Amino acid sequence: MEKLHNEKSGVTHTELNEEEEPPSTKCFISEEQILREYIQDRLDRDKTSLSPHSLEFIKQYFPEATEKDWTNWRWQLKNSVKTIDQLSRFIDLSDNEIRPAREINNTLPIRITPYYLSLLEKNNPEQGLRKSVVPVIDEFLTSPGEASDPLSEEHDSPVPNIVHRYPDRVLFLATGFCSAYCRYCTRSHMVAKDKCHIGTKAWEPAFQYIQNHPEIRDVLVSGGDPLTMPDLHIDYLLSRLRAIEHVEIIRIGTKVPAVLPQRITRSLVNILRKYHPLFISIHFTHPDELTPEVKEACERLANAGIPLGSQTVLLKGINDDVAVMKKLMQGLLKFRVRPYYLYQCDPILGSTHFRTPVEKGLEIIRGLRGHTTGYAVPQYVIDAPGGGGKIPLLPDYNQGRDGEYLLLKNYENKIFRYPDFKE
Ligand code: SF4
Repeated sequence: MEKLHNEKSGVTHTELNEEEEPPSTKCFISEEQILREYIQDRLDRDKTSLSPHSLEFIKQYFPEATEKDWTNWRWQLKNSVKTIDQLSRFIDLSDNEIRPAREINNTLPIRITPYYLSLLEKNNPEQGLRKSVVPVIDEFLTSPGEASDPLSEEHDSPVPNIVHRYPDRVLFLATGFCSAYCRYCTRSHMVAKDKCHIGTKAWEPAFQYIQNHPEIRDVLVSGGDPLTMPDLHIDYLLSRLRAIEHVEIIRIGTKVPAVLPQRITRSLVNILRKYHPLFISIHFTHPDELTPEVKEACERLANAGIPLGSQTVLLKGINDDVAVMKKLMQGLLKFRVRPYYLYQCDPILGSTHFRTPVEKGLEIIRGLRGHTTGYAVPQYVIDAPGGGGKIPLLPDYNQGRDGEYLLLKNYENKIFRYPDFKE
């Protein structure tokens, strides 16, 4: 690792390997800008007032840390929990949780930020958030139909780090790193493999591929989690995509605002806002994630004019309940995030304990549509195994026909007739 010290700003970028540096930083970020934003971020951290819950957690588990440490995303990453022994300092592990964690070798590793850890209930292995990040023995049980890459993304990858499934858009897998590893991750076959970022040089074939395909008008940058990368890398990636004339919109898929809200710094937001039209889809799992810190992170992004949408995976025993889902979706709207997709859980290896019947998802949509604001109702989809793409699922609102009339069931289960005459 090279240490790059900026004399003017005093910023030292320890995590950038010189080999992986973008070829020129001058075209996309100035030294004055770095200095200005560095100072502003420090001031912001000084101003941040932590919740009594966070203060208590820091006092108990990180007595050496200052409040400024806590609000520093690099400190959060550095102090993330990665082993079962570390985890046992914070929560009382059940048998079901201890056994698999000791056996984890080739499966998805553990990674949980101190911030996210502070949201876990010490004595409750049934808590939704806890189940989403702490491995259990059920991960070792596989069922028919499960696969390590159920969406066949590798099959649709013409060059490394690109998935080209739909005609006019591509998925750009920018990194294999996440600030927290979700146990149900669709890309558990590729995330966390090298435990670090792919590096800017490795992106070159992906840039060339997009450049050579004028039909690509939309690039979804995902991973891993792209917002875990250093500012300079994010700036470089977005500047290269924006320089391709036929790329109309850029989207970012991330869980960072929910698990590492400290990462949404002023300097990051100032980079992102340069690349409009830019959209961000944020992965949320449960209403327990809707904290004041997350609200602030979402507001910063929204104030920069970035439309925010949510993506949620339907998970057994975590959020497969109308009341829980309604609380999450309504809470997201208050945070200025528009619920976008509710995914049926993908059949990755060892996911049986997470997957609900499809009927459960339909029941949840039935419990939302008409019972809350339309904006709070996400689109329920199955990402078809084998690479078929997203297929929307709707409850049985269409009840067939009576001659020239369409029979429609409303949210109160009442039938209405719509005149649908043939032309
Ligand atoms: S944040 Fe996304 S990519 Fe990372 S582990 Fe969770 S689901 Fe997978």
